[in-house]
Amino acid sequence: IISKLPQTPTTIFSVMSALANEVGAINLSQGFPDYECSPVLTDLVNKAMQDGHNQYAPMPGLLSLREQISQKTEKLYGATYNPDSEITITAGGTQAIFTAISAVIHPNDEVIIFEPAYDCYAPTIKLMGGIVKSLELHPPDYKIQWDMVKKLISNRTRMIILNSPHNPTATILDAEDIKQLNDIVTNRDIIILSDEVYEHLVFDGQQHLSMARYPELQQRSFIVASFGKLFHTTGWKIGYCMAPAYLMQEFRKIHQFNVFSVNTPMQVAAAEYLKDENIYLSLPDFFQQKRDHFREGLKQTRFELLPCSGSYFQSVRYQNIADEKDSDFAMRITRETGVAAIPVSAFYSRGTDHQILRFCFAKKQETLDKAVDRLVKL
Ligand code: GLN
Repeated sequence: IISKLPQTPTTIFSVMSALANEVGAINLSQGFPDYECSPVLTDLVNKAMQDGHNQYAPMPGLLSLREQISQKTEKLYGATYNPDSEITITAGGTQAIFTAISAVIHPNDEVIIFEPAYDCYAPTIKLMGGIVKSLELHPPDYKIQWDMVKKLISNRTRMIILNSPHNPTATILDAEDIKQLNDIVTNRDIIILSDEVYEHLVFDGQQHLSMARYPELQQRSFIVASFGKLFHTTGWKIGYCMAPAYLMQEFRKIHQFNVFSVNTPMQVAAAEYLKDENIYLSLPDFFQQKRDHFREGLKQTRFELLPCSGSYFQSVRYQNIADEKDSDFAMRITRETGVAAIPVSAFYSRGTDHQILRFCFAKKQETLDKAVDRLVKL
């Protein structure tokens, strides 16, 4: 066969988690919590199954869940999404991203992404015959240089993919970014795919600037969200996508023949659980404490900390410790030091010589402490 994605390796998250398991390292690589979700939530799932919610959900997802999402979005960002026609429950954020790109990208359409970029964007664009136009961002602040974005725009530009809070750099978009973005897309036929899966993980009292807040941007955006991050349940693989009806209609044409619908009992539980707004309002503090604790610990090491405004990732430079490629260094410290991290070069289509690792801090305090105890030895 002729490979459709000849250059695409196995995703770094599988590679590093497998290595961490193999050698028994503390796994701060792939982003997922090592603590349990609320028993209230698991009780709701049990109850949903016992109550007989075990058959297909409607194709776009359970209406009661879509209604809860619509209310939450209106409360937080002031946007009204019609649960009937503008919200779809997906099998996680990645499926929502895949489906949104497939729904609108034709061969030779250009899509602008910012690197480091989450690793599923570029392969999905290529699979659809689209052309990836990547713009590199530079540490430590990874600001988007909008004049460079303007230079990348052509009459073939069909989409810009944004991700705030950003994985892996932990930066967030600010008001100036929004203004510049607005200037660029106005009067152009450009769709925004806004990966907002870390929307509730924004620190130091800053606000998450969702595309849903800005009517002109909202009108051209797919917004992707994740219950894995919201409920500490990444293994449930449930998320959702919101978009104006003209976009969601195309999204569902693909969704119906790809997954058809997402598992029912977890949707029943999520709809009930989401009624408590404290579930999401408490998340910034919860994760900020972990961030602060982990950063304090890392200060005892020879790593140099990069800023962290959002997400559950902390990036570090290691040039005081070693002079080797980040993938080699990440593998070596997983085996020798017993702590796994993600080499940030995995988020660049052409690689990078930046010597930076990404750690996930969505972990119990004792896990973070144990990891720091090991990292201090480097
Ligand atoms: N989003 C997670 C991360 O960045 C990984 C998800 C996955 O493994 N697909 O670590």
